[in-house]
Amino acid sequence: MRRTVYNEDHEAFRETLRAFIEAEVVPVYDEWYAAGQAPRDFYYKLAELGIFGIEVPEEFGGAGEESFKYEAIIYEETARAGVSFGGSGVHVLLCLPYLKAYATVEQKKRWLPDFVSGKSMYAIAMTEPGTGSDLAGMKTTAKLSEDGTHYVLNGAKTFITGGVHADKVIVCARTEAPRPDDRRHGISLLVVDTKSEGYSVGRKLDKMGLKVSDTAELAFVDVKVPVGDLLGEENKGFSYLGQNLPQERLGIAVGAYAQAAAAVRFAQQYTQDRTVFGKTVASFQNTKFELAACKAEVDAAEAVCDRAIEALDAGELTPAEAASAKLFCTEVAHRVIDRCLQLHGGYGYMNEYPIARLYADNRVNRIYGGTSEVMKSIIAKSMGL
Ligand SMILES: Cc1cc2nc3c(=O)[nH]c(=O)nc-3n(C[C@H](O)[C@H](O)[C@H](O)COP(=O)(O)OP(=O)(O)OC[C@H]3O[C@@H](n4cnc5c(N)ncnc54)[C@H](O)[C@@H]3O)c2cc1C
Repeated sequence: MRRTVYNEDHEAFRETLRAFIEAEVVPVYDEWYAAGQAPRDFYYKLAELGIFGIEVPEEFGGAGEESFKYEAIIYEETARAGVSFGGSGVHVLLCLPYLKAYATVEQKKRWLPDFVSGKSMYAIAMTEPGTGSDLAGMKTTAKLSEDGTHYVLNGAKTFITGGVHADKVIVCARTEAPRPDDRRHGISLLVVDTKSEGYSVGRKLDKMGLKVSDTAELAFVDVKVPVGDLLGEENKGFSYLGQNLPQERLGIAVGAYAQAAAAVRFAQQYTQDRTVFGKTVASFQNTKFELAACKAEVDAAEAVCDRAIEALDAGELTPAEAASAKLFCTEVAHRVIDRCLQLHGGYGYMNEYPIARLYADNRVNRIYGGTSEVMKSIIAKSMGL
């Protein structure tokens, strides 16, 4: 089916990005993989290409684009090449929507130009060692000082993507205790400078996949955060998270779909090249049926993503619809990548083959941004169940 979601401008961007990935990422990706992170300097190259400023308003140094489509293309093209842009993915996908929606004009003037230039890389810290799915249970506190000039931040976060390189972190913390009738009350968002006294980065976590993305533990001991760095209104953080999670979840859905599409391409190419019992693996009926079944699933996921992208751009994507898209596309990707790996035989298990890395990278899509079980809860609630 012809895709109608992208126009000529989007396709021109895709071409530029594809060439950039070929020149700047593919040749050095194995080094990044071994090092466990992309080098900090690479983020300046992404900034030069204009990647960080696409959706930033022009008055703050960006291109003023409102559409999510350029970001979707980044997911499609990195997956196609079997690479990633490391922890910088959260800078735009997760953090920018909060800055755009809740920062004051004064804060935007202070923060967005450096966001666009890559001088300040952002991460977002919601998850804590004791609580992930149940965010209302978070324990990190931010108490207003007696003179009202700053918050005093104490607590710990874990699994924070981009946490090693980040210059600023949007930290979710309790500024008030939960109310008996509302556990979600009392959470606020603070933009914390990672050079602040009392702020520390713990372990860079050793993950099963996403080797190039720096994922870290963070700790805060009496970190002073100026009141001017509160994002949005005090105690309303939970509702802000609810409003921004649909975009994050759609990003994960698109990434998963793109990984599944890449897996089918890798498997088709591999089975056409590999000979067993005097024939190519692709010539067995089983291979053709497996690849055909995978292609049909990928086509369905593509259609779901394309509709959801249009809905997001139109401001119509509901939390339940985003949860549906994430659930469906990540489960499709899980099935498809596993079947495509099987068609590679033992080579599919070797990290030098992109299908092995895809398999490990994709596994987390059903966990982060909300697990598949949490997605089902959201969908069921929207059905009145
Ligand atoms: C690689 C990676 C990167 C990440 N990046 C970030 C980041 O940048 N920032 C950030 O804040 N967080 C990040 N996370 C955290 C991620 O969002 C959480 O891991 C995720 O939300 C799940 O929380 P948890 O790990 O505490 O699991 P838990 O909440 O402890 O869940 C354990 C199990 O219980 C199930 N479960 C939970 N609630 C229910 C329910 N109501 N009904 C049925 N089953 C349920 C879950 O589905 C899961 O199977 C990242 C995680 C990973 C692995």
